[in-house]
Amino acid sequence: MIYNDYQVWFVTGAQLLYGGDAVIAVDAHSNEMVKGLNDSGRLPVPVVYKGTVNSEKEVTECFRAANNDPNCIGVITWMHTFSPAKMWIHGLQLLKKPLLHFHTQFNKEIPWDTMDMDFMNLNQSAHGDREFGHICARLRKPRKVVVGHWQDPAAQAKIAVWMRVCAGWADAQDMLILRFGDQMNNVAVTDGDKVEAEMRLGYHVDYCPVSDLMKYYNSVKETDVLALVAEYFATYDHDAALEVVGSDAYVKVYNSARAELALRGILKDKGAKAFTTNFDDLGDMDQIPGLASQRLMAEGYGFGAEGDWKTAALYRTFWVMGKGLPKGCSFLEDYTLNFAGERSAILQAHMLEVCPLIAAQKPRLELNFLGIGVCKSQTARLVFTSKPGDGVAATVVDMGGRFRMIANEVECIESKPLPNLHVASALWIPKPNFEVGAGGWILAGGTHHTAFSYDLDVEYLKDYAEIADIELVIIGKDSTIDTIKQDLRNGEIYYMLNKALK
Ligand code: MN
Repeated sequence: MIYNDYQVWFVTGAQLLYGGDAVIAVDAHSNEMVKGLNDSGRLPVPVVYKGTVNSEKEVTECFRAANNDPNCIGVITWMHTFSPAKMWIHGLQLLKKPLLHFHTQFNKEIPWDTMDMDFMNLNQSAHGDREFGHICARLRKPRKVVVGHWQDPAAQAKIAVWMRVCAGWADAQDMLILRFGDQMNNVAVTDGDKVEAEMRLGYHVDYCPVSDLMKYYNSVKETDVLALVAEYFATYDHDAALEVVGSDAYVKVYNSARAELALRGILKDKGAKAFTTNFDDLGDMDQIPGLASQRLMAEGYGFGAEGDWKTAALYRTFWVMGKGLPKGCSFLEDYTLNFAGERSAILQAHMLEVCPLIAAQKPRLELNFLGIGVCKSQTARLVFTSKPGDGVAATVVDMGGRFRMIANEVECIESKPLPNLHVASALWIPKPNFEVGAGGWILAGGTHHTAFSYDLDVEYLKDYAEIADIELVIIGKDSTIDTIKQDLRNGEIYYMLNKALK
Protein backbone atom coordinates (compact mmCIF):
# COMPACT_ATOMS: atom_id res chain seq x y z
CA MET A 1 0.00 0.00 0.00
CA ILE A 2 1.35 3.39 -0.99
CA TYR A 3 -1.08 5.65 0.87
CA ASN A 4 -1.52 4.12 4.29
CA ASP A 5 -3.12 7.20 5.83
CA TYR A 6 -6.01 6.91 3.44
CA GLN A 7 -8.86 4.42 3.07
CA VAL A 8 -11.42 3.65 0.41
CA TRP A 9 -14.74 2.39 1.70
CA PHE A 10 -16.57 -0.54 0.15
CA VAL A 11 -20.35 -0.47 0.54
CA THR A 12 -22.56 -3.31 -0.63
CA GLY A 13 -26.12 -2.58 -1.68
CA ALA A 14 -28.76 -5.13 -0.70
CA GLN A 15 -32.30 -5.26 0.66
CA LEU A 16 -34.23 -7.43 3.09
CA LEU A 17 -36.68 -8.87 0.51
CA TYR A 18 -34.82 -12.19 0.34
CA GLY A 19 -34.60 -12.64 4.11
CA GLY A 20 -31.89 -12.21 6.70
CA ASP A 21 -30.00 -15.31 5.58
CA ALA A 22 -29.45 -13.81 2.15
CA VAL A 23 -28.01 -10.64 3.70
CA ILE A 24 -25.68 -12.73 5.88
CA ALA A 25 -24.44 -14.54 2.76
CA VAL A 26 -24.05 -11.23 0.91
CA ASP A 27 -22.03 -9.92 3.83
CA ALA A 28 -19.73 -12.95 3.81
CA HIS A 29 -19.18 -12.61 0.05
CA SER A 30 -18.41 -8.92 0.42
CA ASN A 31 -15.86 -9.62 3.14
CA GLU A 32 -14.16 -12.19 0.94
CA MET A 33 -14.09 -9.80 -2.03
CA VAL A 34 -12.63 -6.93 -0.02
CA LYS A 35 -9.99 -9.24 1.41
CA GLY A 36 -9.22 -10.42 -2.12
CA LEU A 37 -8.87 -6.84 -3.35
CA ASN A 38 -6.55 -5.94 -0.48
CA ASP A 39 -4.49 -9.10 -0.90
CA SER A 40 -4.14 -8.63 -4.66
CA GLY A 41 -1.11 -6.37 -4.21
CA ARG A 42 -2.49 -4.18 -6.99
CA LEU A 43 -4.28 -1.52 -4.94
CA PRO A 44 -2.36 1.44 -3.48
CA VAL A 45 -5.02 2.30 -0.84
CA PRO A 46 -6.55 -0.10 1.72
CA VAL A 47 -10.19 -1.01 1.10
CA VAL A 48 -12.36 -1.04 4.21
CA TYR A 49 -15.63 -2.99 4.07
CA LYS A 50 -18.46 -1.00 5.63
CA GLY A 51 -21.16 -3.64 5.51
CA THR A 52 -24.37 -3.99 3.56
CA VAL A 53 -26.88 -1.19 3.34
CA ASN A 54 -30.50 -2.30 3.20
CA SER A 55 -32.51 0.89 3.64
CA GLU A 56 -32.49 4.59 2.97
CA LYS A 57 -31.53 5.21 6.59
CA GLU A 58 -28.49 2.95 6.34
CA VAL A 59 -27.34 4.47 3.05
CA THR A 60 -27.64 7.99 4.40
CA GLU A 61 -25.84 7.16 7.64
CA CYS A 62 -23.03 5.44 5.77
CA PHE A 63 -22.43 8.29 3.33
CA ARG A 64 -22.66 10.90 6.10
CA ALA A 65 -19.94 8.99 7.94
CA ALA A 66 -17.84 8.82 4.74
CA ASN A 67 -18.08 12.59 4.36
CA ASN A 68 -17.01 13.11 7.96
CA ASP A 69 -14.07 10.70 8.00
CA PRO A 70 -10.95 12.57 6.87
CA ASN A 71 -9.19 9.27 6.06
CA CYS A 72 -11.92 8.15 3.69
CA ILE A 73 -10.92 9.39 0.22
CA GLY A 74 -13.54 7.57 -1.83
CA VAL A 75 -16.41 5.12 -1.79
CA ILE A 76 -16.87 1.97 -3.88
CA THR A 77 -20.45 0.75 -4.23
CA TRP A 78 -21.60 -2.61 -5.52
CA MET A 79 -25.12 -4.02 -5.69
CA HIS A 80 -24.93 -7.67 -4.75
CA THR A 81 -28.70 -8.05 -4.87
CA PHE A 82 -31.32 -5.82 -6.35
CA SER A 83 -31.15 -2.70 -4.19
CA PRO A 84 -34.08 -0.42 -5.00
CA ALA A 85 -32.44 2.85 -5.89
CA LYS A 86 -34.93 5.29 -4.38
CA MET A 87 -33.27 4.37 -1.09
CA TRP A 88 -29.98 5.73 -2.45
CA ILE A 89 -31.23 9.17 -3.48
CA HIS A 90 -30.67 11.11 -0.26
CA GLY A 91 -27.35 9.45 0.46
CA LEU A 92 -26.02 10.12 -3.02
CA GLN A 93 -27.16 13.73 -2.80
CA LEU A 94 -25.15 14.10 0.41
CA LEU A 95 -22.04 12.19 -0.66
CA LYS A 96 -19.06 14.50 -1.15
CA LYS A 97 -16.37 11.85 -1.57
CA PRO A 98 -15.45 10.44 -4.99
CA LEU A 99 -17.65 7.53 -6.06
CA LEU A 100 -16.71 4.36 -7.93
CA HIS A 101 -19.49 2.03 -8.98
CA PHE A 102 -18.04 -1.46 -9.32
CA HIS A 103 -20.13 -3.63 -11.63
CA THR A 104 -18.92 -7.03 -10.60
CA GLN A 105 -20.33 -10.27 -9.22
CA PHE A 106 -19.19 -12.56 -6.44
CA ASN A 107 -19.54 -15.61 -8.66
CA LYS A 108 -17.37 -15.71 -11.75
CA GLU A 109 -18.90 -18.20 -14.18
CA ILE A 110 -22.46 -19.46 -14.25
CA PRO A 111 -22.72 -22.88 -12.48
CA TRP A 112 -24.89 -24.24 -15.27
CA ASP A 113 -25.66 -27.62 -13.72
CA THR A 114 -26.43 -26.51 -10.18
CA MET A 115 -27.84 -23.01 -10.48
CA ASP A 116 -31.19 -22.59 -8.70
CA MET A 117 -33.31 -19.71 -7.42
CA ASP A 118 -31.29 -19.40 -4.19
CA PHE A 119 -28.20 -18.80 -6.30
CA MET A 120 -30.08 -16.21 -8.33
CA ASN A 121 -31.20 -14.34 -5.23
CA LEU A 122 -27.54 -13.96 -4.28
CA ASN A 123 -26.05 -13.02 -7.64
CA GLN A 124 -28.15 -10.18 -8.88
CA SER A 125 -25.55 -7.59 -9.83
CA ALA A 126 -26.56 -7.91 -13.48
CA HIS A 127 -29.81 -6.08 -12.78
CA GLY A 128 -29.02 -4.56 -9.36
CA ASP A 129 -26.12 -2.52 -10.71
CA ARG A 130 -28.28 -1.22 -13.53
CA GLU A 131 -30.86 0.03 -11.04
CA PHE A 132 -28.09 1.82 -9.13
CA GLY A 133 -26.59 3.17 -12.35
CA HIS A 134 -29.94 4.67 -13.25
CA ILE A 135 -30.24 6.72 -10.10
CA CYS A 136 -26.64 7.96 -10.42
CA ALA A 137 -27.39 9.00 -14.00
CA ARG A 138 -30.68 10.61 -12.96
CA LEU A 139 -28.89 12.57 -10.22
CA ARG A 140 -26.06 13.50 -12.63
CA LYS A 141 -23.68 12.08 -10.05
CA PRO A 142 -20.03 12.18 -11.17
CA ARG A 143 -18.56 8.69 -10.77
CA LYS A 144 -16.35 6.07 -12.33
CA VAL A 145 -17.93 2.82 -13.45
CA VAL A 146 -15.56 -0.16 -13.45
CA VAL A 147 -16.83 -3.36 -15.04
CA GLY A 148 -15.11 -6.68 -14.44
CA HIS A 149 -14.79 -9.64 -12.10
CA TRP A 150 -13.25 -8.56 -8.78
CA GLN A 151 -10.36 -11.01 -9.19
CA ASP A 152 -9.53 -9.77 -12.68
CA PRO A 153 -6.22 -7.82 -12.70
CA ALA A 154 -7.56 -5.48 -15.41
CA ALA A 155 -10.51 -4.43 -13.21
CA GLN A 156 -8.22 -4.08 -10.20
CA ALA A 157 -5.85 -1.89 -12.24
CA LYS A 158 -8.70 0.48 -13.07
CA ILE A 159 -9.62 0.72 -9.39
CA ALA A 160 -5.94 1.38 -8.60
CA VAL A 161 -5.83 4.33 -11.02
CA TRP A 162 -8.99 5.79 -9.51
CA MET A 163 -7.56 5.33 -5.99
CA ARG A 164 -4.42 7.25 -6.92
CA VAL A 165 -6.59 10.03 -8.29
CA CYS A 166 -8.66 10.01 -5.09
CA ALA A 167 -5.42 10.39 -3.12
CA GLY A 168 -4.41 13.37 -5.28
CA TRP A 169 -7.87 14.85 -4.89
CA ALA A 170 -7.90 14.40 -1.10
CA ASP A 171 -4.44 15.94 -0.88
CA ALA A 172 -5.62 18.97 -2.84
CA GLN A 173 -8.58 19.65 -0.55
CA ASP A 174 -6.32 21.29 2.03
CA MET A 175 -3.52 22.33 -0.29
CA LEU A 176 -2.08 25.72 0.56
CA ILE A 177 -0.14 27.32 -2.28
CA LEU A 178 2.16 30.17 -1.29
CA ARG A 179 2.85 32.80 -3.92
CA PHE A 180 6.08 34.72 -3.51
CA GLY A 181 5.24 37.59 -5.81
CA ASP A 182 2.35 37.82 -8.25
CA GLN A 183 1.91 36.70 -11.85
CA MET A 184 4.58 38.00 -14.23
CA ASN A 185 3.59 41.24 -15.89
CA ASN A 186 0.42 40.89 -17.92
CA VAL A 187 0.55 37.10 -18.35
CA ALA A 188 -3.02 35.88 -18.88
CA VAL A 189 -2.93 32.11 -19.24
CA THR A 190 -1.31 31.34 -15.89
CA ASP A 191 -3.77 33.52 -14.00
CA GLY A 192 -7.37 32.79 -13.08
CA ASP A 193 -10.08 32.87 -10.47
CA LYS A 194 -8.57 31.80 -7.15
CA VAL A 195 -11.94 31.87 -5.40
CA GLU A 196 -13.42 29.52 -7.99
CA ALA A 197 -10.30 27.33 -7.68
CA GLU A 198 -10.93 26.92 -3.96
CA MET A 199 -14.63 26.18 -4.49
CA ARG A 200 -14.09 23.77 -7.35
CA LEU A 201 -10.61 22.25 -6.94
CA GLY A 202 -10.08 22.54 -3.20
CA TYR A 203 -6.86 24.48 -2.89
CA HIS A 204 -6.19 27.77 -1.22
CA VAL A 205 -3.93 30.20 -3.06
CA ASP A 206 -2.33 32.80 -0.85
CA TYR A 207 0.10 35.65 -1.29
CA CYS A 208 3.17 35.47 0.93
CA PRO A 209 5.33 38.60 1.12
CA VAL A 210 8.91 37.96 0.03
CA SER A 211 9.90 39.87 3.19
CA ASP A 212 8.50 36.91 5.22
CA LEU A 213 10.69 34.55 3.22
CA MET A 214 13.67 36.88 3.87
CA LYS A 215 13.24 36.43 7.63
CA TYR A 216 14.02 32.75 7.01
CA TYR A 217 16.73 33.44 4.42
CA ASN A 218 18.57 35.79 6.75
CA SER A 219 18.41 33.52 9.78
CA VAL A 220 19.24 30.04 8.50
CA LYS A 221 21.89 28.31 10.59
CA GLU A 222 25.35 28.16 9.09
CA THR A 223 25.77 24.52 10.14
CA ASP A 224 22.61 23.62 8.21
CA VAL A 225 23.85 25.47 5.13
CA LEU A 226 27.23 23.73 5.26
CA ALA A 227 25.54 20.34 5.61
CA LEU A 228 23.32 21.04 2.61
CA VAL A 229 26.24 22.26 0.49
CA ALA A 230 28.07 19.04 1.37
CA GLU A 231 24.98 17.08 0.31
CA TYR A 232 24.97 18.89 -3.08
CA PHE A 233 28.60 18.02 -3.68
CA ALA A 234 28.06 14.40 -2.64
CA THR A 235 24.92 13.99 -4.75
CA TYR A 236 25.67 15.76 -8.04
CA ASP A 237 28.47 15.85 -10.58
CA HIS A 238 30.16 19.27 -10.49
CA ASP A 239 33.38 21.14 -11.23
CA ALA A 240 35.91 20.98 -8.41
CA ALA A 241 36.16 24.79 -8.61
CA LEU A 242 32.74 25.07 -6.94
CA GLU A 243 34.19 23.58 -3.77
CA VAL A 244 36.86 26.26 -3.23
CA VAL A 245 35.70 27.83 0.02
CA GLY A 246 35.58 31.60 -0.19
CA SER A 247 35.53 31.73 -4.00
CA ASP A 248 32.71 33.58 -5.77
CA ALA A 249 31.46 30.24 -7.09
CA TYR A 250 31.33 28.71 -3.61
CA VAL A 251 29.40 31.72 -2.28
CA LYS A 252 26.78 31.25 -5.02
CA VAL A 253 26.33 27.57 -4.13
CA TYR A 254 26.23 28.50 -0.44
CA ASN A 255 23.52 31.10 -1.05
CA SER A 256 21.52 28.59 -3.09
CA ALA A 257 21.52 26.28 -0.11
CA ARG A 258 20.37 29.18 2.10
CA ALA A 259 17.48 29.80 -0.29
CA GLU A 260 16.50 26.12 -0.23
CA LEU A 261 16.52 26.00 3.58
CA ALA A 262 14.55 29.24 3.77
CA LEU A 263 11.91 28.04 1.30
CA ARG A 264 11.55 24.62 2.93
CA GLY A 265 11.34 26.27 6.34
CA ILE A 266 8.57 28.70 5.48
CA LEU A 267 6.61 26.09 3.50
CA LYS A 268 6.77 23.73 6.47
CA ASP A 269 5.86 26.34 9.06
CA LYS A 270 2.88 27.55 7.07
CA GLY A 271 1.79 24.02 6.13
CA ALA A 272 2.04 24.78 2.40
CA LYS A 273 2.22 22.04 -0.23
CA ALA A 274 3.12 24.22 -3.21
CA PHE A 275 4.61 27.58 -4.10
CA THR A 276 5.28 29.97 -6.93
CA THR A 277 8.12 32.39 -7.51
CA ASN A 278 8.58 35.53 -9.58
CA PHE A 279 12.02 36.47 -10.88
CA ASP A 280 11.31 40.18 -10.44
CA ASP A 281 10.59 39.79 -6.73
CA LEU A 282 13.49 38.11 -4.94
CA GLY A 283 14.16 40.17 -1.81
CA ASP A 284 17.75 39.79 -0.64
CA MET A 285 18.43 36.64 -2.64
CA ASP A 286 21.39 37.03 -4.97
CA GLN A 287 19.96 34.68 -7.61
CA ILE A 288 16.71 33.03 -8.64
CA PRO A 289 16.22 30.07 -6.26
CA GLY A 290 16.16 27.61 -9.15
CA LEU A 291 18.16 24.82 -7.54
CA ALA A 292 15.89 25.04 -4.50
CA SER A 293 12.79 24.81 -6.68
CA GLN A 294 14.20 21.78 -8.50
CA ARG A 295 14.95 19.94 -5.29
CA LEU A 296 11.70 20.91 -3.55
CA MET A 297 9.74 19.63 -6.55
CA ALA A 298 11.50 16.28 -6.21
CA GLU A 299 10.33 16.18 -2.57
CA GLY A 300 6.75 16.69 -3.69
CA TYR A 301 6.25 20.42 -3.29
CA GLY A 302 4.17 21.84 -6.12
CA PHE A 303 6.00 24.49 -8.10
CA GLY A 304 4.97 27.01 -10.72
CA ALA A 305 7.27 29.66 -12.14
CA GLU A 306 6.30 33.30 -12.69
CA GLY A 307 3.33 33.13 -10.33
CA ASP A 308 1.72 30.13 -12.04
CA TRP A 309 -0.31 28.76 -9.13
CA LYS A 310 -2.50 26.50 -11.28
CA THR A 311 0.49 24.55 -12.58
CA ALA A 312 2.05 24.50 -9.10
CA ALA A 313 -1.11 22.82 -7.79
CA LEU A 314 -1.32 20.41 -10.72
CA TYR A 315 2.32 19.41 -10.32
CA ARG A 316 1.69 18.63 -6.64
CA THR A 317 -1.34 16.53 -7.59
CA PHE A 318 0.69 14.70 -10.26
CA TRP A 319 3.38 13.98 -7.69
CA VAL A 320 0.85 12.59 -5.20
CA MET A 321 -0.95 10.49 -7.83
CA GLY A 322 2.35 9.05 -9.04
CA LYS A 323 3.77 8.28 -5.59
CA GLY A 324 5.88 5.12 -5.65
CA LEU A 325 5.80 4.87 -9.46
CA PRO A 326 9.21 4.68 -11.11
CA LYS A 327 9.74 7.39 -13.71
CA GLY A 328 8.81 10.74 -12.21
CA CYS A 329 7.18 14.05 -13.02
CA SER A 330 8.10 17.70 -13.52
CA PHE A 331 6.97 21.25 -14.13
CA LEU A 332 7.92 22.07 -17.73
CA GLU A 333 7.64 24.83 -20.29
CA ASP A 334 7.29 24.65 -24.06
CA TYR A 335 10.67 26.16 -24.77
CA THR A 336 11.54 26.05 -28.44
CA LEU A 337 10.45 24.14 -31.55
CA ASN A 338 12.39 21.70 -33.67
CA PHE A 339 10.87 21.32 -37.15
CA ALA A 340 11.98 17.98 -38.55
CA GLY A 341 9.13 16.53 -40.61
CA GLU A 342 7.45 13.60 -38.89
CA ARG A 343 9.92 13.83 -36.00
CA SER A 344 9.12 17.50 -35.31
CA ALA A 345 9.35 18.00 -31.55
CA ILE A 346 9.18 20.58 -28.76
CA LEU A 347 12.10 21.17 -26.45
CA GLN A 348 10.80 21.26 -22.86
CA ALA A 349 12.81 23.18 -20.30
CA HIS A 350 12.73 26.26 -18.12
CA MET A 351 15.31 28.85 -17.29
CA LEU A 352 16.15 26.66 -14.27
CA GLU A 353 13.23 24.85 -12.73
CA VAL A 354 12.96 21.30 -14.06
CA CYS A 355 12.48 18.47 -11.57
CA PRO A 356 15.40 16.01 -11.32
CA LEU A 357 12.96 13.09 -10.92
CA ILE A 358 12.76 12.94 -14.73
CA ALA A 359 16.54 12.97 -15.30
CA ALA A 360 18.03 10.27 -17.51
CA GLN A 361 21.43 10.60 -15.84
CA LYS A 362 22.98 11.91 -12.65
CA PRO A 363 22.25 15.67 -12.65
CA ARG A 364 25.16 18.05 -12.89
CA LEU A 365 25.33 20.99 -10.49
CA GLU A 366 26.44 24.02 -12.50
CA LEU A 367 26.84 27.75 -12.07
CA ASN A 368 25.99 29.84 -15.08
CA PHE A 369 25.09 33.44 -15.67
CA LEU A 370 21.37 34.24 -15.79
CA GLY A 371 20.53 37.72 -16.98
CA ILE A 372 16.78 37.81 -16.48
CA GLY A 373 14.88 39.47 -13.64
CA VAL A 374 16.22 41.58 -10.82
CA CYS A 375 19.34 39.46 -10.15
CA LYS A 376 21.74 39.32 -13.06
CA SER A 377 24.05 36.78 -11.57
CA GLN A 378 25.82 33.46 -11.68
CA THR A 379 23.05 31.07 -10.72
CA ALA A 380 23.12 27.50 -9.46
CA ARG A 381 21.04 24.84 -11.22
CA LEU A 382 20.89 21.12 -11.94
CA VAL A 383 21.47 20.27 -15.59
CA PHE A 384 20.41 17.00 -17.22
CA THR A 385 18.42 15.55 -20.09
CA SER A 386 15.34 13.43 -19.51
CA LYS A 387 14.38 9.81 -19.97
CA PRO A 388 12.88 8.61 -23.23
CA GLY A 389 9.36 7.19 -23.07
CA ASP A 390 5.67 8.00 -23.20
CA GLY A 391 4.05 10.43 -20.81
CA VAL A 392 1.30 12.95 -20.40
CA ALA A 393 1.46 16.75 -20.12
CA ALA A 394 -1.47 18.69 -18.73
CA THR A 395 -2.59 22.15 -17.76
CA VAL A 396 -5.65 23.82 -16.29
CA VAL A 397 -6.89 27.09 -17.75
CA ASP A 398 -9.66 29.38 -16.59
CA MET A 399 -12.20 29.80 -19.39
CA GLY A 400 -14.30 32.28 -17.43
CA GLY A 401 -17.06 30.48 -15.56
CA ARG A 402 -15.27 27.13 -15.65
CA PHE A 403 -11.88 25.45 -15.61
CA ARG A 404 -10.67 23.46 -18.58
CA MET A 405 -8.01 20.79 -18.24
CA ILE A 406 -6.06 20.12 -21.42
CA ALA A 407 -4.00 16.94 -21.63
CA ASN A 408 -1.64 15.84 -24.37
CA GLU A 409 -0.13 12.39 -24.72
CA VAL A 410 3.53 12.84 -25.63
CA GLU A 411 6.52 10.71 -26.58
CA CYS A 412 9.79 11.84 -25.03
CA ILE A 413 12.70 11.22 -27.36
CA GLU A 414 16.40 11.49 -26.77
CA SER A 415 17.59 15.07 -26.63
CA LYS A 416 20.98 16.30 -27.80
CA PRO A 417 23.53 18.05 -25.58
CA LEU A 418 23.21 21.83 -25.41
CA PRO A 419 26.75 23.02 -24.62
CA ASN A 420 25.69 26.67 -24.57
CA LEU A 421 22.29 26.38 -22.91
CA HIS A 422 22.81 25.22 -19.35
CA VAL A 423 19.35 24.02 -18.41
CA ALA A 424 17.70 20.69 -17.76
CA SER A 425 15.46 19.64 -20.60
CA ALA A 426 13.21 17.06 -22.18
CA LEU A 427 12.33 16.71 -25.87
CA TRP A 428 8.95 15.41 -26.92
CA ILE A 429 6.78 14.73 -29.90
CA PRO A 430 3.17 15.49 -29.05
CA LYS A 431 0.63 12.86 -30.12
CA PRO A 432 -0.76 12.20 -32.59
CA ASN A 433 1.95 14.35 -34.19
CA PHE A 434 3.51 17.76 -33.78
CA GLU A 435 1.03 19.56 -36.03
CA VAL A 436 -2.15 18.27 -34.39
CA GLY A 437 -0.67 18.18 -30.88
CA ALA A 438 0.57 21.76 -30.88
CA GLY A 439 -2.31 23.05 -33.01
CA GLY A 440 -4.95 21.42 -30.83
CA TRP A 441 -3.31 22.71 -27.66
CA ILE A 442 -3.34 26.25 -29.04
CA LEU A 443 -6.98 25.97 -30.15
CA ALA A 444 -7.89 24.80 -26.65
CA GLY A 445 -6.11 27.80 -25.09
CA GLY A 446 -3.47 25.79 -23.21
CA THR A 447 -0.57 27.29 -21.28
CA HIS A 448 3.12 27.24 -22.16
CA HIS A 449 3.61 25.69 -18.68
CA THR A 450 2.61 22.10 -17.95
CA ALA A 451 2.70 19.43 -15.30
CA PHE A 452 4.26 16.38 -16.91
CA SER A 453 4.48 12.73 -15.82
CA TYR A 454 5.87 9.56 -17.32
CA ASP A 455 3.90 7.39 -14.88
CA LEU A 456 0.41 8.76 -15.40
CA ASP A 457 -1.73 8.57 -18.52
CA VAL A 458 -4.98 10.14 -19.66
CA GLU A 459 -7.06 7.64 -17.66
CA TYR A 460 -5.89 9.37 -14.48
CA LEU A 461 -6.88 12.74 -15.86
CA LYS A 462 -10.29 11.46 -16.94
CA ASP A 463 -10.90 10.29 -13.38
CA TYR A 464 -9.62 13.59 -11.98
CA ALA A 465 -11.80 15.70 -14.26
CA GLU A 466 -14.82 13.53 -13.40
CA ILE A 467 -14.28 14.01 -9.66
CA ALA A 468 -13.57 17.74 -10.00
CA ASP A 469 -16.40 18.09 -12.52
CA ILE A 470 -14.26 20.22 -14.83
CA GLU A 471 -13.93 20.17 -18.59
CA LEU A 472 -11.27 17.86 -20.02
CA VAL A 473 -9.86 18.12 -23.53
CA ILE A 474 -7.63 15.19 -24.46
CA ILE A 475 -5.21 15.45 -27.35
CA GLY A 476 -3.95 11.96 -28.06
CA LYS A 477 -3.17 9.34 -30.62
CA ASP A 478 -6.64 9.35 -32.18
CA SER A 479 -7.17 13.12 -32.23
CA THR A 480 -7.50 15.26 -35.31
CA ILE A 481 -7.91 19.02 -35.43
CA ASP A 482 -11.55 18.46 -36.38
CA THR A 483 -12.27 16.17 -33.40
CA ILE A 484 -10.55 18.60 -31.03
CA LYS A 485 -12.57 21.52 -32.36
CA GLN A 486 -15.75 19.50 -31.96
CA ASP A 487 -14.76 18.57 -28.38
CA LEU A 488 -14.29 22.26 -27.61
CA ARG A 489 -17.70 23.13 -29.04
CA ASN A 490 -19.31 20.25 -27.11
CA GLY A 491 -17.65 21.51 -23.93
CA GLU A 492 -19.09 25.00 -24.37
CA ILE A 493 -22.60 23.61 -24.71
CA TYR A 494 -22.24 20.90 -22.05
CA TYR A 495 -21.08 23.28 -19.34
CA MET A 496 -23.75 25.81 -20.19
CA LEU A 497 -26.46 23.14 -19.95
CA ASN A 498 -24.91 21.42 -16.96
CA LYS A 499 -25.14 24.65 -14.97
CA ALA A 500 -28.75 25.08 -16.00
CA LEU A 501 -29.63 21.51 -14.92
CA LYS A 502 -28.06 21.98 -11.52
MN1 MN B 1 7.92 30.11 -17.57
